[in-house]
Parts: sequence; C-alpha cells; structure tokens
Amino acid sequence: MRDKSLLRISVLVALVVAISIAAGGQQTQTQIAPSVERLRAHIEYLASDKLEGRRTGSSGANLAAEYVAREFSRYGLRRSIGYDTPGMSILEADSPNRYLQKFPYVAGVELGRANELMVKIVGLPASTVPQASLSFPMTVSKDWLPLGLSGQGRIENTPAVLVGYGLTVSELKYDDYADAKATGKVAIAFSGTPDGDNPHGQFARYEEVRWKAIAARNAGAKALIVIASENNFKDDRLSRLRYDNSAGDAGLPVIAISRQAGAQLLSADSSLLADVEQRLRAKQPASNENQAIALPVHTVLITLSTDLVRREVEAANVVGILDGSDPTLKNEVIVIGAHYDHLGRGGEGSLAAREGEIHHGADDNASGVAGMLELARLFRSQESRPRRTIVFLAFSGEEEGLLGSNYYVNHPIMPLANTVAMINMDMIGRMKENKLIVGGVGTASGWRTMIEAQNLVQSMTVTAKAGTASQSKGFPMVVAANGRAIVTSDAAKQFQLTLNEDGFGPSDHSSFYAKQIPVLFFWTGTHEDYHKPSDTADKINYEDEARILSLVWRVVHDIDSNDKRPGYTVAKSESTGRSTGFRVYLGTIPNYADSSDGLLLDGVRDDSPASKAGIKAGDKIVKLAGREVHNVYDYTYALGEMKAGQEYEVELLRGGERLKLKITPAARK
Ligand SMILES: [Zn+2]
Repeated sequence: MRDKSLLRISVLVALVVAISIAAGGQQTQTQIAPSVERLRAHIEYLASDKLEGRRTGSSGANLAAEYVAREFSRYGLRRSIGYDTPGMSILEADSPNRYLQKFPYVAGVELGRANELMVKIVGLPASTVPQASLSFPMTVSKDWLPLGLSGQGRIENTPAVLVGYGLTVSELKYDDYADAKATGKVAIAFSGTPDGDNPHGQFARYEEVRWKAIAARNAGAKALIVIASENNFKDDRLSRLRYDNSAGDAGLPVIAISRQAGAQLLSADSSLLADVEQRLRAKQPASNENQAIALPVHTVLITLSTDLVRREVEAANVVGILDGSDPTLKNEVIVIGAHYDHLGRGGEGSLAAREGEIHHGADDNASGVAGMLELARLFRSQESRPRRTIVFLAFSGEEEGLLGSNYYVNHPIMPLANTVAMINMDMIGRMKENKLIVGGVGTASGWRTMIEAQNLVQSMTVTAKAGTASQSKGFPMVVAANGRAIVTSDAAKQFQLTLNEDGFGPSDHSSFYAKQIPVLFFWTGTHEDYHKPSDTADKINYEDEARILSLVWRVVHDIDSNDKRPGYTVAKSESTGRSTGFRVYLGTIPNYADSSDGLLLDGVRDDSPASKAGIKAGDKIVKLAGREVHNVYDYTYALGEMKAGQEYEVELLRGGERLKLKITPAARK
C-alpha cells in the first residue's frame, strides 16, 4: 500500500513535468510504442537452441553479437566515433567486426604436455613387497588431473601427509592442519566437508576446493592432492577442467586423484578409504582428532608437475552510437546497456540439476537485449532526436564477473567523464503482479522523485476535446485547444515499484557506478527458472516488458530533456544487512573482473571501516590480517578469521607504492 500523501505530491510533480513538456510545444514526439512482436522475435532468436545458451567466447555468443550488430546497422546507428583519443578504443571498421569491441577472455584451460605424477613409497615391510621401496607413475586424465585453479610448477620427491578434509575454518574452530605438520610437504585431503556436503550445514560455504587450496597454502604445503568422492573418476565433478576468469590461480599445484589412485597412495584399499572418510565425518567438527585416525601411511614421496594451457579467445561487446542533436550536449553520453551472454550448457553459475542442457536465458538476458534494441529503434526513428549522444551497449562476459562492462569502462569509446548516466536492463521479462524493481535511485539527486513521477505519467490517460489537439503526433500529455489537458490517472496501469538506493549490484551497472556514474537498473526479479535450462522464450511476459520499456524511454527522455546532467550522489548501501555468512564487515567493493595478483577495489562504502582506514577505489589489497591476498577467495578467507572491533593490518598497493594501514572491522547487523 502506498502512502496517500506521498502519492498526491507525486501527482503534482508528474503534472508539472507533463505540462511543462507539453507547453514547450516545439518538441513534438512520435508516439512511444515498443513493439511486442519485435520483442518476441528478438527473444525467440536469442534464446533459441541455435545459440546454445550464448556462453561467452562460444560460437552461440558470437551469433548473438552478430544479430545485435545487424540490428544496430538496420537502425542506422553509427559504429565508431571516427577519431582516435588516447585511452579510448576505436571500434574496428571492417564489416564482419563492425560494432564489436573485442576483449581478451580465457574460455577454458587445457592440459599441457608436462603433466607428471610419480609416487614412491619407502620403508614398506619386507613381507608385503619384495623390495623396500615401490615406485610407480600415475596417468594424467585417467588417475589424476590438475584442477583449473592449479598453479603451475614442479616438486620432486616431496613427502606427503594426510590432512583429513584439508580445511581451516577459524569461525568454526576447525583446523585440519592443527597438528598435521604440512609445511614443505604435499597435503592429501578428502574432497567435501566434515558435514557430508549438507547444503545447509555449517561447512556449506567451504565446499569449493578453493578453500582447501588456501588452507594448504597458508599451512605452508607445497602442493595439494584432493581425493575424488565418486568411485568412477570420470563422474566426479573434479575431473572436469574449469577455469574461473575472476579468481586466477591458487598459488600452488592442486590436483584431483581418483579414489583408486588415492587408496594406492595411502597403501590402503578402497574400502578402508571409505571407512576413514566415514569416521572423519562422524566426528564433531570442533574436535581435531584426525591424527588419531590411523591409516597405514608409509613414507610417500611425490614428484609432481602441473602444466595447464589457457585457451584465450576473443569476446566482444557490441556498441552502437546515436549522435546527439544538440551542438553542445552531444558531447555528453547516456549509456543504455544489457548483457547478451548467458551460461551455455551449464557449468559455472548454473543451478540445473545436471550439466549439458542448453541454458536458454530468455529472461536472463535476452529480455534486456531485446529491450535495448527496441529503445535503439525508437530513439533512432523518433522525429526529434535526443540531444545527448546515446551509446547502446550489449555486454558479454557478465555471467563470468561483469567482464564486458568492466572492459568498456576502462576502454570507453567516449570519455567516461562525459558519460552522464548508465541505464541497465537485466531480466525484465518476467513481470508478475505489476512489480518492477529499480536499482540505483540513490546514485543521482532527484532520481527517486523522477522515477515515481514517470511511473505516474505512464498511468495517465489524456482526453482532449474532440477535434481540438492532434494526439497522434504529439506526446500523449497534450494541452487541448482550450489550454486544458484532461488527465485521468489509472492506478492499475502504474507499476508497483520497489526502489533500491544502491548503485552496486550483481549486474553491469556496477561497473559504471564504480566509476562514479549515476546508474539505474531495471529488473522484474528472480524466479524458479533462473539460471536453469527452463528459462525459455515462451515464459516471457511480452506485454509487460513493452510497458517497462515505455517507462525506461520516459526516464531517458527526462534525463535528456534536462540541460543539467544528473548530479552524482553516493548511494546508501543495501548489502550491509544482507547475510553473507560473515560476522564482520569492512565495506570494500571488490572488482570481480580483475584476475591479476591481489584484490583490486572498485570502491569503498562511505563511513565504512575501509573508508575510515583510508582505503580508496583503485587500491589493491595484498595482505589482510596477516594473510596473503592473491584473489577474492583469499580475501574472503581472511575476512572469515577477523573479529569485529579488533584492529588489523591491511597491506595494499596504490600507484607504485606499498602501504600499510590499520583497519577495524565492524560487526554485521
Ligand atoms: Zn544471469
């Protein structure tokens, strides 16, 4: 239920806006009509089997990019700015690449030639084997496999030690390394966690091998071997090579081995292995009695080489430019964007029960791309052109960590300082009960009021007296010949808006807000088909998507009608209250697209512990609370060990300098 008094004020604002546009007179606008049929055609193609889920770097994604480029070309959008400016990219002008802004992307990792695993067992009793030591190779792919996150390297004849699950979780007072003496050794761990991979268990957050790798590195281990959980190695999810573009490598060799090879390594048979796992699992997490569980481990010496080759491909944003009509204001830019990539046939990010099926991504985010295309067509075809330049952008690499938008803000085609607003649409095709979420309303002054006013305008019907004003050519809000507009408000046509302040969030607008650009993010919320193969075109609510686009059109028009650019404001953060499982809060905003060593920050929240410590956007954290930070996982790990109200040291790189600052985490509410 909306507050009635607020509503009345908004009506007044809406009328003032509407009448001032109408009274302006000179600006006649073509009727705004996003086409349901066009939206349907775009989404049905983009979400079709032919495009195979549009995973970044795949041929399906390339087909989608070509489709967007072809549409841009049909609407007559410009494909480059035609001149070169340092720090900005010129789009390639040759025809197959027109409108494309390419960026490097690691599509996957492959095995190199130098992978080797040799096991030597010494000190065996003479009764079991004729010789005192036993030496045998293990075959890569069949017995073992380096993981995608593995560091590259070689170790020779290094003793191994069994470390249970190989986890250190200080918040649960659990440490497999407490008395394992793993320094300088190869750590051998079981996969999974002590509470049997229960998704609601207290160890649920530590299921990823990442955490084992960090614990091993922190304990001084030279390498980590993880024993698979499936009896058939080929069925184990660790037996598939994957690469995470946003996290980089683990800093030490990490491999998975089959259960059979694991048993061989521990001189045990497979049933004994299962028995040990069973006993580890039955233990209370707080007790550390791994060492009490006896396995007939002899001295095992490991020789290991890991060799992975990154398969780099080109990914591309698609960029179309509509020049502004005003001689001065055309130097300012409004970006309208939507990501076109999705999850391909599953894998990282998928919520499907099994892998291999096409994730159609009709709502996520063929809907946003179709919306962006419709807006491009409308703004291009209307009689009076926008005064500012509009850059239409279809991003790639969003699902892998906002890679495309991050690349764009670091290689903009027009200076970012002139980019006055960014409008993002991600999942706008599943409207239910008229509910629309708009994020970023706190990123520019007056945006909350503006959105509410435009939502009201949307719901109004004008009845001019018969035979007086022509409505077909004009803005719907015309003043009739007698000088009076007859306006009726229809509450049923208004959206029920949820307005979120924050400019950061899990989509491409985040990249722009991180550069202090006001942003707005339109979406219709999540649903049961989210990130599953069942997100298909037949489930899209096309009529309501068209209505949303009318609102977005009005919002862009409103921004453009104002001589003054939107005034950037620092938005209130909403993520503070969200439960992330951590007890402490620093207020940093990590850049998820950066995979270089350390944790690059896009920004810090106002009044947060990070801002009080003097940390700034662009800083790179390399050490936190005594822990080395190579990537976002290391950072999260260190965060898990910190206590609110206690002072810690944070080490960071700023420019060429290395700084040490003091930071005191706050308790999460
Ligand atoms: Zn998504």
